[in-house]
Amino acid sequence: MEANVKRVASVLIAPAPHMVGDGFRVHNFFPSGYKLKMSPFFLLDYNSKINFSARKKPRGVGVHPHRGFETITIAYHGAVAHHDSAGNSGIIHPGDVQWMTAASGILHKEYHEEAFSVKGGDFQMVQLWINLPARHKMSPPKYQDIKQANIQKHYLQNNGGVIEVIAGEYQDLKGFASTFSPLHLFNARLNKGGKAVFTFPSNFNTGFVIIEGGIRINDEEVAGVDQFVHFSNEGSEIKIEALENSIILVLSGEPINEPIAQYGPFLMNNSEEIQQAISDYNQGKFGYLEE
Ligand code: MN
Repeated sequence: MEANVKRVASVLIAPAPHMVGDGFRVHNFFPSGYKLKMSPFFLLDYNSKINFSARKKPRGVGVHPHRGFETITIAYHGAVAHHDSAGNSGIIHPGDVQWMTAASGILHKEYHEEAFSVKGGDFQMVQLWINLPARHKMSPPKYQDIKQANIQKHYLQNNGGVIEVIAGEYQDLKGFASTFSPLHLFNARLNKGGKAVFTFPSNFNTGFVIIEGGIRINDEEVAGVDQFVHFSNEGSEIKIEALENSIILVLSGEPINEPIAQYGPFLMNNSEEIQQAISDYNQGKFGYLEE
């Protein structure tokens, strides 16, 4: 094994799922499911593929607040509609990404998109919570609607597949999304036999979600669908080879080395700021959004 290889620390199975509202059946890989060093990524909810029956009234999660971080939703099957108190709304379909910066505070609701709900079908999504550095926690809210057509694509050699750069960069190709701290977020869509190499600074916290298929990593470990691969903080280079047609969500970011205080949908640096968030929310300072 070469010295510069970023080795697999563990390959983790999906924890038992729970429902978020009635529209998302998620496995929480962290921070509840496993205690992993993944900052700036604070939470990873993985809605593994599930078939929802047809229903006129869309399933989902009603109006709720967030402060102090960003929620990123990545769609693989099905469609989700979003509305927030800053006046932003959008629908994400497979291949699309919604990047919502709650920052100083927002109310939003997340439901299955109407046409999808009426038809029913397969549903598979990831929601990430990305922490914000203290100096950006009270920035104005922001919304980045990232359609598949706007996502930068690096095509691999020998028809190996494509690396979609959502944020950060892959081999000088810069992603569409703006971020508040250095991080990379890719969808690697590999054809069977396809190979890719990723290089991240050794201190960047790094993981893969295997959305579809299976891969060999660094010529030694194997990971399959619905598993999370956690990497060590030594070395930089990760080599993968697809054992079948595969989709891998790749996340890597520079840790935010600041204290964390969390209470439900608020993610701040200390308990005073949490109390302030609760007080501001109760006083209606997060705006208004119709149920
Ligand atoms: Mn939410």
